[in-house]
Amino acid sequence: MTQAARDDPWEMALRQFAQVARRLSLKRGIEDFLRTPQRELTVRFPVNMDDGTVRVFTGYRVHHSVILGPTKGGIRYHQDVTLNEVRALAMWMTWKCSLVNLPYGGAKGGVIVDPRTLSQGELERLTRRYALEITPLVSPHGDIPAPDVGTNAQVMAWIMDTYSMHHGHSVAAVVTGKPVSIGGSVGRVEATGRGVMIAARETARLLGLPWQGAPVVIQGFGNVGSNAARLMWQDGCKVIAVCDVGGAIHNPDGFDVAALQQHVAQTGSVVGFPGTTPIAHRDLLEVPCTFLVPAALEGQITAANAERIRARVIVEGANGPTTPEADEILGARGTTIVPDILANSGGVIVSYFEWVQDLQSLFWSEDDINQRLERLMIRSVRDVFDVAHKQGIGLRLAALQRAVDRVAGALMIRGIYP
Ligand code: NAD
Repeated sequence: MTQAARDDPWEMALRQFAQVARRLSLKRGIEDFLRTPQRELTVRFPVNMDDGTVRVFTGYRVHHSVILGPTKGGIRYHQDVTLNEVRALAMWMTWKCSLVNLPYGGAKGGVIVDPRTLSQGELERLTRRYALEITPLVSPHGDIPAPDVGTNAQVMAWIMDTYSMHHGHSVAAVVTGKPVSIGGSVGRVEATGRGVMIAARETARLLGLPWQGAPVVIQGFGNVGSNAARLMWQDGCKVIAVCDVGGAIHNPDGFDVAALQQHVAQTGSVVGFPGTTPIAHRDLLEVPCTFLVPAALEGQITAANAERIRARVIVEGANGPTTPEADEILGARGTTIVPDILANSGGVIVSYFEWVQDLQSLFWSEDDINQRLERLMIRSVRDVFDVAHKQGIGLRLAALQRAVDRVAGALMIRGIYP
């Protein structure tokens, strides 16, 4: 297998799963079933562009597993989206929901598009048409999308509105990550970043590492990265380097993350933030720190750079940022990796809270949301550390093992229909 094939996210997800299936001694047929996405939809659809032309886009929605409940998973708008990437992200959603005990299976969606090249009107028309094209798979009790890379609360609002128009009444529970004014949840926008912060802090506690003043490096400054950066900084850590797609910045003494967020709001990028030095993208991951938070895309920490990473702990804000080869290299060097399905589960946890509130039409306070999130995150982190410690394995394997075991157990109890 070539390196490119090995770094393919679906290949990564399958290799991780095979390792766990072996350890759990899953029966062959059960392993086959859990490995295979249950439904995959590819859609091709036209969009009227502002210049009078029509462009055809390709999108996907994949349901990996419906064993634990309706499927849940984000929608990604990115020019490099592939069906294999969506499959991997859907499988990771199944394990993530299982790990933190949510009554959901895993799904994911994506459209091959760079949303930064579209006008607001084009983005809305693309979203509404994609929402309609995937309607056969989406419903409040069947499959509930949410934001991911390149999508946000506004995109979720258009999806909710499109679905609602076709049903003749408002259906808030069909997507999460919506604006609060139309049934979104307070605390959802920053939930993934908050979960990353809680996972990092609990890890520091369990490993006996200092938290106050701990140097932090963050790759990606979107929803997950910027909120993780701000919350870790507000809680006393020292954020010393961050990047976005435009470039990377560094100051070993740390910087004011709230001011950086304002700079990004004004200029569109972290680049040029006063008091920082520009560094190369590839050097960012190698800056010495206590916590490295990859919060951009998959496959960033690989066999090619793992040897040079000098973080004590990697907290995976992104899904699939570390390849299995890099995992081995870092594990052998004693780097702790808090795996994606644990570290970034805050987003789906608060999405679950949003869905429950929508179904009941009864809304909770931000304190309530944050406290419930914190309890669930801390319990999940401790559970995973406990399994890892008892079995002498890494945190990723422990988390996946726990997650897959729950799904397999539920499958055995439900039985195979008919
Ligand atoms: P986003 O689109 O809001 O932000 C992505 C950030 O990454 C941007 O700052 C972008 O500039 C940067 N980026 C993109 N390509 C880059 C590159 N090659 N080098 C450096 N930076 C790059 O996306 P997001 O919602 O923050 O998602 C980030 C990651 O977190 C993804 O892996 C996503 O699947 C995962 N995740 C997101 C959520 C959520 O609630 N949004 C939940 C769980 C996991």
